[in-house]
Amino acid sequence: MHLLLKQLLNRVEKLDGFVYESSQMINAVKPEAGKPASGSSIGSIEIQLRERKRSKGKCSDCKKSAPGYDRLPERRFQFVPLWGIPTYFLYAPRRLECPDCGVHVEHLPWALGKRPLTMSFAWFLASWAKLLSWQETSRTFKTSWECVFRSVEMAVHWGRARMDLTGITGIGVDEIYWKKGKFLTLVYQINEGMKRLLFVSEDREEKSLRKFFLWLGKERSALIEFVCSDMWRPYLNVIATYAKNALNILDRYHIAAKMNKALDEVRAKETRALTAGAKTKGAQVVLKHSRWCLLKRPENLTDNQAIKLKDLLSCNLKTIRAYLLKEEFQLFWEYVSPAWAEKFMDQWCKSAMRSRIEPMKKIARMLRTHKPLIMNWFEVRGQLSLGAVEGLNNKLKASIRKSYGFRTAKAIKVMLYHKLGALPEPEFTHRFC
Ligand SMILES: [Zn+2]
Repeated sequence: MHLLLKQLLNRVEKLDGFVYESSQMINAVKPEAGKPASGSSIGSIEIQLRERKRSKGKCSDCKKSAPGYDRLPERRFQFVPLWGIPTYFLYAPRRLECPDCGVHVEHLPWALGKRPLTMSFAWFLASWAKLLSWQETSRTFKTSWECVFRSVEMAVHWGRARMDLTGITGIGVDEIYWKKGKFLTLVYQINEGMKRLLFVSEDREEKSLRKFFLWLGKERSALIEFVCSDMWRPYLNVIATYAKNALNILDRYHIAAKMNKALDEVRAKETRALTAGAKTKGAQVVLKHSRWCLLKRPENLTDNQAIKLKDLLSCNLKTIRAYLLKEEFQLFWEYVSPAWAEKFMDQWCKSAMRSRIEPMKKIARMLRTHKPLIMNWFEVRGQLSLGAVEGLNNKLKASIRKSYGFRTAKAIKVMLYHKLGALPEPEFTHRFC
């Protein structure tokens, strides 16, 4: 057995101007009686670094060589674990007297800024954080949540500074509720072959979306041909101002979401009314626990839900009439001819207005107000990946569900860019995972 740790390290992580001097195994500290072991029960590996002889340090500010000034106390930098054992680089940085910048700490090519992490470990953590939650990542690789956050933040910074923003002609605008009364505005690119999250900002006001267009710039905004959005007035206003050449489409997914919301409102209200007046006992029982079989598409129902739906349909309830209206509207999207689709929609709105069900009347009014933008859907169908907004939105919701520990908008933004931004990564001499 003659392969040395030094040889391995020089193969995977050669450091310009520095050498690996020595390494040692540190035994684990025995936990106090009755307490769980903290960190690794197997101890850790410490690798001592020193500068190459007669090699001058480089100023961390301007990266030029400069004469030494003094030396700071030793610092530890966590490296990629070797055989599952937490591993650290140890080095006492020099301070240099840079002719241009004054006294400065030297540049450490392996370090992630001032953090106790090596770059390799940070990229390693960031890669895993795409697959696991941040909590799982920190636990698996025996580091802190904060270290995982900083690593992902670094990767996002790096990637967003190098994003290719050419060819963005279709975007989708969406909002998501993420915690008590707080929304995020999301902008996706939805071109065939390139679907990714482009921008996240807080709230869902005009200024939230305006930030996106300011980030993208005037020239690129002018190249946008399609914008998919919902009927949220502040968004419509901003889109009309900043994406003047674009066709604004109110898409199927957002309209379906609105219909489901209206139906849910009718159902909840009717359930309450029936519970209050106990005489219509049969209908009350039927309506209980009916939420999912009404909101799901019929083809997605389980057997039990299908039976429940059949029972429901036999009662003359407002909920049922609203459900039938909702289901009927699906036909709208099947029309080949936009003219016939428009006729169908007019007809549908008439029956909804006559239904005496307020939430459905509201939908009809909304459809009438936004008719031109809805009809745009027929113009772009086939040209644009219209299902993309829904797909990305579902992925995003799954990521948010996994991140229950996130309290700040900053952390959630970083996580979303990381998972859905399709960001570029640097070329490595060695990939640790
Ligand atoms: Zn300098």
